[in-house]
Amino acid sequence: MLKLGIIGAGFSGLSLAILLKDLMEVTLFEKGHRPSGRILSFDSDTCSFDLGAQYFTARTKVFQDFIRPLVDLGTIKRWNAKHVRIQNGVLIERKNWMDDEPRYVGCPRMNCVAEYLSQDLNIQTSSSISSLNKLDKWQLLEENGTIHGGFDWVVSTLPAPSAKNLLPESFKYHSTLSSVPMRPCFSLMLGFENDRCIEFEAAHVLNAEISWIAVNSHKPERKGLYTLMVHSSMEFAEKYKAVSKSEIIQHMIHETSQVLGQDLNSAAFKDLYKWQYANNAQKENTPILIDSDLQLAACGDWCLGGRVEGAFTSAWNLSNSIQEILYGTINEQTK
Ligand SMILES: Cc1cc2nc3c(=O)[nH]c(=O)nc-3n(C[C@H](O)[C@H](O)[C@H](O)COP(=O)(O)OP(=O)(O)OC[C@H]3O[C@@H](n4cnc5c(N)ncnc54)[C@H](O)[C@@H]3O)c2cc1C
Repeated sequence: MLKLGIIGAGFSGLSLAILLKDLMEVTLFEKGHRPSGRILSFDSDTCSFDLGAQYFTARTKVFQDFIRPLVDLGTIKRWNAKHVRIQNGVLIERKNWMDDEPRYVGCPRMNCVAEYLSQDLNIQTSSSISSLNKLDKWQLLEENGTIHGGFDWVVSTLPAPSAKNLLPESFKYHSTLSSVPMRPCFSLMLGFENDRCIEFEAAHVLNAEISWIAVNSHKPERKGLYTLMVHSSMEFAEKYKAVSKSEIIQHMIHETSQVLGQDLNSAAFKDLYKWQYANNAQKENTPILIDSDLQLAACGDWCLGGRVEGAFTSAWNLSNSIQEILYGTINEQTK
C-alpha cells in the first residue's frame, strides 16, 4: 500500500485520513497533545468552553452522510439556539435556530467530534513537523530532530500561512498559499456562579470590537457553571495581539457588558485564548492544490470559506483527486 503522511489533525486532516485510509497507509502528525485543531474545547474544574468553532452547518449531502454516524450516536446534536444579530448596539434580527437550517455541535464538547473521528486512525501527537525532504520518498522532520520517512504522498492541512512556511518553494501552488491571509481572534471565557438574564443564546455582533457572544452552557449536554463565550472581532485581535491577556480580558468584558447592558465583572472564571490564525481574511474558493509530480498537496478550511464544512469539503475534493491520480496510475501500469 502507498504511504500517506498528513500534517495536522484538525477537521480536514481527520476527514482526509478517514476518506483515504482504505486505499493508503495513513499516518497523521499533529503538533498538539491531541487532535482537534480549531474545534478546540477547554474544561476547568467548574466549567467548559468551546474556544474555536461554535457550531457548524451541513449543507451538502456528502457532509450530511459523513456526520450521520455521529448524529446517530449523539456525539453531534442540533443546537436550537435563540439567535440574534446586533448592529451598532441595536438588535436587528431575531431567529430561533429550531425553525432554521440545523446548526450542529459536538456533545458534551465540540472536540468530542475530533475524538470520535480519530478512532482507528494512526496519529502521532505532540509531533511538530518543521520541514519536508524528498529523497526517493518523502521524509518529515520534527522540531526535536525525529525523522519519519518512506512517504509516497504528503498532504499539509495547516492554515495557509503555516503551510506556506512548511512546504518547499518547488510546490506548484506555493504562491497560492501566500495569497491567503488569515486573521487572529481572541476567545474570552466567562463563568458565573449564578445564571444571567440574557434574552438570547447566540449573537453575531456587527461593527464592534466583539463579534460573537454565546451562552456556552446552554448548548446541549453542557455541565457546570453558567458560561459565556465571547469572540473579538478580527480587527480588534489584529490591533491588540501584542497586548497582555489581562488587559484584553478587561477590555472585552467592558465591551460585552456594554452590548448586553449588564456588568459582567462579577464572573467567577475569566480566561482568554489567543488564536493566531482563526479565519480567512476573505472567503476564498481555492482550487484543489495537488502537485502530482511531487506527490504533495495542501487542503484546509481556508480553501473553501474558512468553516468546518469547508474543511471537510476541501478534504473530500482532495481525496477524490488523489484517488483519480492513483487509479490513473494503476490503469497506466495495467495497460
Ligand atoms: C475562534 C474561532 C471560531 C470559529 N467559529 C466557527 C463556527 O462557528 N463555525 C464553523 O464552521 N467554523 C468556525 N471556525 C472555523 C473552524 O474551526 C475551522 O474552519 C476548522 O476547524 C478548520 O479545520 P482545519 O483542519 O482546516 O484546520 P485546523 O483545525 O487549524 O487544523 C490544523 C492542525 O494542524 C496542526 N499543526 C499546525 N502546525 C503543525 C505542524 N508544524 N506540525 C504538525 N501539526 C501542525 C494544528 O495543531 C491543527 O490541529 C472558527 C474558528 C475559530 C478559531
